[in-house]
Amino acid sequence: MTGLESNKLSHVEMDAADPLRRFRVEFHIPKHTDGSEVLYFTGNSLGLQPKRTSEYIQQELKDWAELGVEGHFHAKHPWLPYHEFVTEPLARIVGAKPLEVVAMNSLTVNLHLLMVSFYRPTAERYKIIIEKGAFPSDQYAVESQIKVWSTGFSRPLPTQPPKGGTPNALIELTPREGETTLRTEDILETIDREGDSVALILLGGVNYYTGQAFDMRAITEAGHKKGCVVGFDLAHAAGNLELKLHDWDVDFAAWCSYKYLNSGPGGIAGIFVHERHARSFDLPRFAGWWGHDKKTRFLMGPDFVPLAGAEGWQLSNPPIFQLAALRASLEIFDEATMPALREKSVKLTAYLEKLLAEINDARIEIITPSDPEQRGCQLSIRVKAETRAAGSVSEPAASNKTLFNALTERGVIADWREPDVIRVAPVPLYNSFEDVHKFAEILKECLV
Ligand SMILES: *Cc1c(COP(=O)(O)O)cnc(C)c1O
Repeated sequence: MTGLESNKLSHVEMDAADPLRRFRVEFHIPKHTDGSEVLYFTGNSLGLQPKRTSEYIQQELKDWAELGVEGHFHAKHPWLPYHEFVTEPLARIVGAKPLEVVAMNSLTVNLHLLMVSFYRPTAERYKIIIEKGAFPSDQYAVESQIKVWSTGFSRPLPTQPPKGGTPNALIELTPREGETTLRTEDILETIDREGDSVALILLGGVNYYTGQAFDMRAITEAGHKKGCVVGFDLAHAAGNLELKLHDWDVDFAAWCSYKYLNSGPGGIAGIFVHERHARSFDLPRFAGWWGHDKKTRFLMGPDFVPLAGAEGWQLSNPPIFQLAALRASLEIFDEATMPALREKSVKLTAYLEKLLAEINDARIEIITPSDPEQRGCQLSIRVKAETRAAGSVSEPAASNKTLFNALTERGVIADWREPDVIRVAPVPLYNSFEDVHKFAEILKECLV
């Protein structure tokens, strides 16, 4: 079905023609106060629970009850190698070789661990490029890494910062005046201009606020040309876009799994380290016993011998219940496959965009790029302040939020980001064209 054909089809016909429609029943859909299913558009924040997740966690509870510590070896899915059960499915999600990925910790923790190894500033090359308006945790993480280095807390002398290193060590990519998203040409130009003093480029694969997807291949190539390390935070990209981290030659990446990957609140995160660094044992890293060579780990020797690949960055033995939840969810991704999910996602979001355009109300504006290559499933809708009658007190944030509150009352679960954006993410695994259609109808009602 081409975009043009789908333009003419009704939501009923598009759902009927959707090869992935059977996956919706794999998920628990929350209920509105009237008992009907909510319109859930926040899979970008917390993905819905797969029905099979409970069974997978129950299995581990049962094995723990019946086997105690022996579960490490004799559980139905032994705990000792349990994280390995999700390695291949995760590699398929991000376009990596199994050696390049591992599930561990949570996202911000992983960003720090990876920066310990991949942010290696010198007096000449010490800057970090991020997007202005990056997710706050990323901003804090990057700034604190710069601080750790510039105060000499954990760095040896040869990498002393230049005088007054901290304040200008951060380069924030900013949209042009009057624009809300970044132009690829501007990103590449900044890399080209500043690159010689840049140690690390760390961008979101998809910006959480605007929904803009960056050209990770082009950015990586431009960064490498200037000798920079290039990493991505894939919190909003994993399970949303088709990724090819290995082929794009990305140095490292990290993502959480509770958003599009449906692993549950606080679910276990993932990392990617390119094969090229798999045996870079001279890279500084924070070490723990789970990153130690499996063959000799339990000899409990005094010397750390890191595993090759991403596994060598593990610290602790992993949380099995969280891994069980992730395993349940990734199985569904393997059944649906990323190419098919992305194909539906492009149509679903284009349909939402089309219906919003048809509402044709100057009070709402989509700030996410309209080019499907530059976005995932999310559309960020800016709600402009209502034009008030003369003499009334203008309260932009409050009056904008009224629309959001009205949607919530009618059973739409979207999310509000200050100062004026509603994020709506139709997820191809469990959202239907009918969901999108209903949303547009409700939005129309609320805008009256
Ligand atoms: C969701 C998100 C986070 C959350 O970090 P946690 O460590 O999982 O709490 C961080 N960065 C980005 C870009 C995100 O979208």
